[in-house]
Amino acid sequence: MLPKKDQFLLPEGVIYLDGNSLGPLPKGASARAQKVIEEEWGIALIRAWNTAGWMDLPRKVGDRVARLIGAPQGSVAMGDTLSIKVFQALAAALKMRPDRKVILSDNGNFPSDLYIAEGLIGTIDKHHELRTPAPENVLDHINEDVAVVMLTQVDYRTGRMHDMAKVTKAAQDAGAIMLWDLAHSAGAVPVDMAASQAEFAVGCTYKYLNGGPGAPAFIYIRPDLVEETRPALSGWLGHDAPFDFDLNYRPAMSTERMRVGTPPILQLATLDAALDSWDDVDMNALRAASVALSEQFIKDVSAACPTLDLISPRDSAERGSQVSFAFEHGYAAMQALIDHGVIGDFRAPNVMRFGFTPLYLDAGDISRAAQIMAKIVNEEIWRDPKYQHKSRVT
Ligand SMILES: *Cc1c(COP(=O)(O)O)cnc(C)c1O
Repeated sequence: MLPKKDQFLLPEGVIYLDGNSLGPLPKGASARAQKVIEEEWGIALIRAWNTAGWMDLPRKVGDRVARLIGAPQGSVAMGDTLSIKVFQALAAALKMRPDRKVILSDNGNFPSDLYIAEGLIGTIDKHHELRTPAPENVLDHINEDVAVVMLTQVDYRTGRMHDMAKVTKAAQDAGAIMLWDLAHSAGAVPVDMAASQAEFAVGCTYKYLNGGPGAPAFIYIRPDLVEETRPALSGWLGHDAPFDFDLNYRPAMSTERMRVGTPPILQLATLDAALDSWDDVDMNALRAASVALSEQFIKDVSAACPTLDLISPRDSAERGSQVSFAFEHGYAAMQALIDHGVIGDFRAPNVMRFGFTPLYLDAGDISRAAQIMAKIVNEEIWRDPKYQHKSRVT
C-alpha cells in the first residue's frame, strides 16, 4: 500500500519534493549501515567478504534492481557511478558498430552523458561525432550513419519522456544500438527492458530508489549480447575468476563483466536496505499514484500562480515523475520555498523542479506544498535578500 511514510526518516515539517534528485533515508538503511560498520567491518574485518556476504552483494542488489526495470535476473551489474556506466555502455556499443561514426543523443540529455560521449570520442580518436538534436526531432535523425542512439528516457529538467518502445525500434530498424539512461525512470515509471529489446541501459540508485548519496550505479546488457560486449574498463572484478589472479584478462560470462573494481559495500548495503521498501511495489500502481500527485500539483499551482509557466508536458503520458515550472526568479523562489519547508530544486536558467514519489508523499502534502508556493510567489516573499545567495549545489 502507498504511501509508506513510516519507512522513511522525513524531518518534521518538511514536504520533500526532491526525491528525484536524492531520495530520503529509509529507516532500514540507517540500521543496516550501522550493522555493516560495527559488526561486519568492525569485527569480521576482511572475513566479511565471505562471512557477511559482501562478495555476493553486487549480484544480489543487481537482481533486485532488475525486477524494477523489467530485466531478467542476472542481467544487471552494480558499481561505480552512472557517468562511468555511460562510458562503458557507450564504448561497448561503438565496438559493436565499427563502421558507423555517429552517436545520436539529444540536447535535453544530462550534460554528464554528453561530456562522457565527447571524452570517449577523443579517447578513441577515430572521428566519431556526437549529434544532439532537440528531443522531439530525434527520430528524424536516426539513419544508417548512427552507431548508437543514447538517450535519457526522462528529461532531468522538464520531465518529458521518450517513447522507449518506439525509439528503440526506430534505432534498431536503422541498424543502430540503443542505449537508455534510466536515471529518472528507475523507481519513477514502469520500465520493461526485456520487452523493449534495447541493447543497453544504465541508471543510478540515489534518486528514486533512495540508495543514499553516492550509491552505486547499474548497467544492463541484453542477455544475448553478453559475449559480444567488450568491456572498455577491464578491471579485475569483471574478470571471470578474479581470485585466480591470471595475468590475462578474461571477462566474466555475464553482465558482471561490466564491473570494474572493489564494490562500495557500505553504499550497496544501504541500497539493499532501501530496496526493501520496493519489494511489494507494483510499478503500475506507483505510476498511477505518481500521475495523480503530479496532476494535482500542476492544477493547484497553475491556478494559484499564473505567472509560472509549466514547462513539463501537460499530458501525463509524456511525462515522467516530475513537474517543472519556469519562473524568472526561480532560484530565489526555490530558496524561499525550502526555507518554508517545501524542498524542490532549481535548474539553470529558470527552472523550479519538483519530484513526485508516491512511497512517501500523499495528496495532503501536495496541497500544502502548492499553498506555500502560492504564498511565496504571490506575496513576493522570494524578494528577501537572504534568498538571493547562490550555493554550489542548486
Ligand atoms: C543524475 C544523472 C547523472 C549523474 O551521474 P553520476 O555519475 O551518478 O554523478 C548522469 N546522467 C543522468 C541522465 C542523470 O540524471
